[in-house]
Amino acid sequence: MISFNKPPFTGNEEQYVIASMRSNSLAGNGPFSKKCQDWFEKKQHLNKVLLTPSCTHSLEMAALLLDIKPGDEVIVPSYTFVTTANAFVLRGAKIVFVDIRPDTMNIDEKLIEEAITSKTKVIVPVHYAGVACEMDSIMALAEKYGLYVVEDAAQGMMATYKGRPLGSIGHIGAISFHETKNYTSGGEGGLLIINDKSLVERAEIIRDKGTNRSQFFRGMVDKYSWVDLGSSYLPSDIQAAYLWGQLEKADEINKFRCRVWDLYFKALKPLSDRYIISEPHVPIECEHNAHMFYIKVSDLSERTKLIDYLGINGVNAVFHYVPLHSSSAGNKFGRFCGEDRYTTEHSEKLVRLPIWYGITDTQINFIIDLIYKFFDSSIEK
Ligand SMILES: *Cc1c(COP(=O)(O)O)cnc(C)c1O
Repeated sequence: MISFNKPPFTGNEEQYVIASMRSNSLAGNGPFSKKCQDWFEKKQHLNKVLLTPSCTHSLEMAALLLDIKPGDEVIVPSYTFVTTANAFVLRGAKIVFVDIRPDTMNIDEKLIEEAITSKTKVIVPVHYAGVACEMDSIMALAEKYGLYVVEDAAQGMMATYKGRPLGSIGHIGAISFHETKNYTSGGEGGLLIINDKSLVERAEIIRDKGTNRSQFFRGMVDKYSWVDLGSSYLPSDIQAAYLWGQLEKADEINKFRCRVWDLYFKALKPLSDRYIISEPHVPIECEHNAHMFYIKVSDLSERTKLIDYLGINGVNAVFHYVPLHSSSAGNKFGRFCGEDRYTTEHSEKLVRLPIWYGITDTQINFIIDLIYKFFDSSIEK
């Protein structure tokens, strides 16, 4: 069976994890955590980053940082992972779902203004598949209405918009190191990116149980105490050690994935030229990170048949997401603004093909052949 995903593993993770285990510093903010955070701040030129236990936690921290209160409205695409919305619902926010653009599956920036009310506090663009949302338009709207922008860049590490890393454009960004993402910190993990300098100090306090412990360690205060809301949003240094093995090879992993993506794209292009499938679109201002390779087929029934066909032939292809506005919690905590022209229809057409660091050309060609066989036989019928 060709699995849909394999957690990235380059080889060095093992020695760093063991080194961390043998050190006497396993808790959060240890030496590997500092190395990783430095890497993001220096190599990616990010203002301030904090490792977290997951992207979900990063988004929850963003909601705390922005003082989201019951009744506040948060604009998100309905086509996303549940925590994009849930992190804000936990603070009492009402979610306002907006339709997506069918070309990138990202929130349609042209529909956001219509969703803004006097209660709107935040816009949460999700960079689906590591392809950026139209950030210039979104930031301009945020400025016009005095809103915050939290980028859900869970899938976006190493991808850029007009040369800027995803997660570095809004006031806050969030990246995931879950094992299904391009880089992992041992299965679970995340990063909070704080671009708005006025939010940095509180972000550290919120992450450290509502205490000013990091100021204490820097010698800025002579004792530390409870000063604000907070929780324990620190990953262990062993997780950071795993991640460090991947950051050292960040370019290599990215190049590998992009090559696989290009192989799929070129090989399947004749099918998209004949309108049998459609392939992902990457706008010119976006450099993507090959987080995902997906195709879209005609409808739900064809998708079910294709996934079954690939499955019986040893290939695990998957789909996602059930649009949030059609879920029971999405209904309870949110409302859809405007018309659902593309979200539901396109979510039902999408199939994700296996893509991971280490997949072989033989495996990719096998998958491509199967897709051709499936459509040849379905055309004859
Ligand atoms: C993976 C993902 C998340 C959640 O990341 P975790 O690290 O698993 O919490 C949130 N949003 C999007 C768009 C994702 O793809």
